[in-house]
Amino acid sequence: MTADDIILDKLSAWARQESPTHAPDGVNRMMDLVATEAREAPIAVERIPGQGGLGDCLILRAGPERDEPSVLVLSHLDTVHPLGTVERDLPVRLAGDRLYGPGVYDMKGGALLALEAYKDVARQGQARRPLVFLFTSDEEIGSPMTRPIIEALGRKAAYVLVTEPARDGGKVVTARKGVGRFEVEVEGRPAHSGSRHQDGRSAIREAARQILRIENMTDYLRGVTTTVGLISGGTAANVVPQHCRFSVDLRVTNAADGEAYAAAILGLTPHDPDVRVRVTGGMNRPPYEKTEAVARLFEHAKKVAAELGQSLAETPMTGGGSDGNFTAALGVPTLDGLGIDGDGAHTLEEYGLVSSIAPRRELMARLLATL
Ligand SMILES: [Zn+2]
Repeated sequence: MTADDIILDKLSAWARQESPTHAPDGVNRMMDLVATEAREAPIAVERIPGQGGLGDCLILRAGPERDEPSVLVLSHLDTVHPLGTVERDLPVRLAGDRLYGPGVYDMKGGALLALEAYKDVARQGQARRPLVFLFTSDEEIGSPMTRPIIEALGRKAAYVLVTEPARDGGKVVTARKGVGRFEVEVEGRPAHSGSRHQDGRSAIREAARQILRIENMTDYLRGVTTTVGLISGGTAANVVPQHCRFSVDLRVTNAADGEAYAAAILGLTPHDPDVRVRVTGGMNRPPYEKTEAVARLFEHAKKVAAELGQSLAETPMTGGGSDGNFTAALGVPTLDGLGIDGDGAHTLEEYGLVSSIAPRRELMARLLATL
């Protein structure tokens, strides 16, 4: 078997090991697979037990044991695909250069190629700085458990490399929008829709007006979007509804807009004085802005890639957040999108391009050895 066949085999096995965020047993088996791989090289493994129904995390350490700023690699091993997806809707299969399977692109492919690169560099003793590799279990739900771990390791890092999927033919990510999440609960007054209509205060009617208000905050020129993506309410077709609740997703390009729009959403007041509107939530991931330091890190990656015969491009600011948002917001230069190329993240058409694995692994190894 060639090196390419071996990594393809491993990635197929990783994809078959389903690991949705809320299935901690599956996520933990993924962590077992990583720990097993790490034993093949001089790598120290620390396991942090999961909490609140989430899977464990792993921290790998290699390179010099000096107390100086590290290079931190971030990968998540949870996926959005529920258990059974690999049996029913998205079997692991190779079609030409495409490897289909749950999480292949987002982001088991990136996690695996970075781990292989990490092992290579650890074995060859090439690291100039301590190399820390964090595997997390809850990225797909906004990293509620691992955010403090990411930030603690981030504060000790000189650089952060994130293995989220590459974009459009291998582009890396140097900026991401910030993400806010809000829950809105509306409470009116129930009544029989036929005999007592005038006594009712419809929570759904009020929610509808609030939703339009929120959706109208979208400003494409400014890079701000608001989406009400979930809604529930009412009890029966012939009852003026007492309750309605919905979720709001907010995306912004900079921290000031994050504060301003979060305040606007949290400050929503009812149109109808007899109806209560309660908003909870706030900014979840701060914006990841392309600072001077991020630009310098990208230039370094471009130079290293050129030495490997690769041309590396960056994608314009993307709307999707990642754990890189947390470290970038701390001011630590962060480079993201270093994972596998492919498409279909979060869909049943998800695939990774097998031909992108070897060059990305080489690039990651050179970055780990030169930063
Ligand atoms: Zn991801």
